[in-house]
Amino acid sequence: MQFSEVVGQATAKEHLLGMWQQNHLPHALMICGQEGTGGLPLALALAQYLLCSQKGASDACGQCANCGKVAKMEHADLHFSFPTIKDSDKKKEALSDNYIKEFRKLMRQQAYSTTFDWLQYINAENKQGNISAEECRAIIEKLSLKAYEGGQKIMIIWRPEYFGKEGNILLKLIEEPPADTVLIMVAESAESILPTILSRVQLIRLLPLSPVQISSELVRRLQVDEAKAKQLGLIADGSFSAALSLLEHIENDFFPMARQWFNMMFTHNGIGLSKFVEDLAKSGREPQKNFLLYVGHLLQATIKQRYTGHCRLANEELAFVQKLAATSMSIEAISTLIEELNKASFYIQRNASARIQLQALSIRMMYAIQNKKVSSLN
Ligand SMILES: [Zn+2]
Repeated sequence: MQFSEVVGQATAKEHLLGMWQQNHLPHALMICGQEGTGGLPLALALAQYLLCSQKGASDACGQCANCGKVAKMEHADLHFSFPTIKDSDKKKEALSDNYIKEFRKLMRQQAYSTTFDWLQYINAENKQGNISAEECRAIIEKLSLKAYEGGQKIMIIWRPEYFGKEGNILLKLIEEPPADTVLIMVAESAESILPTILSRVQLIRLLPLSPVQISSELVRRLQVDEAKAKQLGLIADGSFSAALSLLEHIENDFFPMARQWFNMMFTHNGIGLSKFVEDLAKSGREPQKNFLLYVGHLLQATIKQRYTGHCRLANEELAFVQKLAATSMSIEAISTLIEELNKASFYIQRNASARIQLQALSIRMMYAIQNKKVSSLN
């Protein structure tokens, strides 16, 4: 992966290159940005740049033997550590080495894959991923060896949020890494990282991507039709991963579903809502998450429409949002709806019962639509 293949993030790229040029690249850094902003692609691009034997001022050459090996994620001096599960059926311990083939395969296919995609890919099902104490010791061992190719050794730790207290095993390594070692952690939420680790790394923050950055990449990389790319860019909420997932599920046309759902909530059609929830609950977590994301996007547009008298939608969607904006719903109520959608999506992704979440969400939304306060329902 070259820097040029990472969507947006110009500031972070310049920052990293600037530190390298001034010989100030820290031995332990943490790239941190919300899901889909490109943390892992950026870490891979930095690793390729560091290992490239013919690098230019702003990117790896993409041609040399080292670049070839990094692109395949098979460079002997590039190591990976990531959340895994213990699989007693296949007698696999929860160690990255036991899952490295699968990890390479998924990330070579799509470096913007999410942790959820990854855990699904290794059939974690209801198991939570984990980075174990044993894995921490494996990290120390790998970095204590000499570099095979005589250059730098790089360890990419994807999602250090998955360390339990075991992460403390790494403190000494982070503080005084062996010579020629670069430790790149890729996180999504600095708040969930052990403070002892966080205080020992240099943090590189990634911003959410803009709708234009997302849509133009969809057009360039995947030849997505411009109008569709523009719509996905708006819905994806700063995440290229979300845009890719939406693209996959866009054939589910969410608009008629959203309109039907709101109509039933406005008319207190309880029987209709139960049926709607039953159907949606059968559709799988990814479509459910995308549907909720889409509804959130319609509500964001409604707030914009209310405040400014316009939004970036067109046709049926615009007409619907104009109607929603003209109802007596307060801005606070609409904001509450958006929060409720995000919460439901969060729990569904973490394997909560979709039916119960969607049922509770419909009730909460119905209350918010009537501008009533609602106490906790689950
Ligand atoms: Zn190269």
